[in-house]
Order: sequence, then structure tokens, then C-alpha cells
Amino acid sequence: MQWSLRLGRVNGVPVEAHWLLALLVGWVAYTGWASAGLAGLVSNTALLVAGFACILVHEIAHTLQAQAINLPVRRIGLLPFGGLAQLGRLPERPPDELRIALAGPLVNLGLGLIFAALRLGAAGAHCRRHSRHLARTIRLAAHSTGAAHIRRTT
Ligand SMILES: [Zn+2]
Repeated sequence: MQWSLRLGRVNGVPVEAHWLLALLVGWVAYTGWASAGLAGLVSNTALLVAGFACILVHEIAHTLQAQAINLPVRRIGLLPFGGLAQLGRLPERPPDELRIALAGPLVNLGLGLIFAALRLGAAGAHCRRHSRHLARTIRLAAHSTGAAHIRRTT
């Protein structure tokens, strides 16, 4: 891919990032800095990098499926608008093409389920922490007003 930086190799396939991606990272980092300082810069940049990591995993899934049916993969490219796994030649059988095409979205579905489970787990922990705090507050309030004593004696 022209105008790109080689990031490494995955299963023998070069992974390249187009230089416009650096421009996007710079822009996103700048807007984060302008809106929330260093925390905004870090969070915006981390979110963008995480998004492109998911795109890379998607392209790796296409690549591994293509390689599994002995199709050569020339490169994996990351571009500002997404990614691509460039095959050396197209599959001849429609089921093989379907297999390669579905690999990326299925991996994204799996990632989505993992992230949703992590989010639900974090939300659950957050709710449990707040419910314990609320119960403690109610006990303290009941104790300070004597309600706890009244409840015990009645
Ligand atoms: Zn795809």
C-alpha cells in the first residue's frame, strides 16, 4: 500500500497503516486536548486506538480464513475509514468466499459480546457498591433518628 507505514506482520502477512491514519490520530488527540486537556487527549486517543485494534482483529479474521483455504493474502491495511485484507486471488467456490466474508463480522460479534459482558459486570459491581452504600446510609439514618430502636422494640 502506497504512503503507508509497516507496523509488523501477522501470520506472515504485512500489516500497514496509511499515513492519513496518523493525521486522524493527531486530529482526534487535538480535539480531546482542546475539550478536556490531557485527560481528553488520552481518552480520545485510547478510544481511537481501541477502535482500530478491533478493525485489525476483524481483518486478521478475514486473513486467517483466507489462509486456511490456501489463498495468499498480500497485506492488511489500516486506513482512516477502516481496514482491508488484500487477497492475492479470489476464492473460486462461493462457500469459501462466504467463509472469508463472515469471519470478520463474526469476530466483531464476539468482541461485542465480550465488551457487553465486561460492561454489564462493571455496571453490576457499580450497582452493588451503591446498594451497599445506600443500605449503610439507611441504617445510619434509622439509627440516628431512633427508628432502628423503634423497629426493634415493636
Ligand atoms: Zn470485513
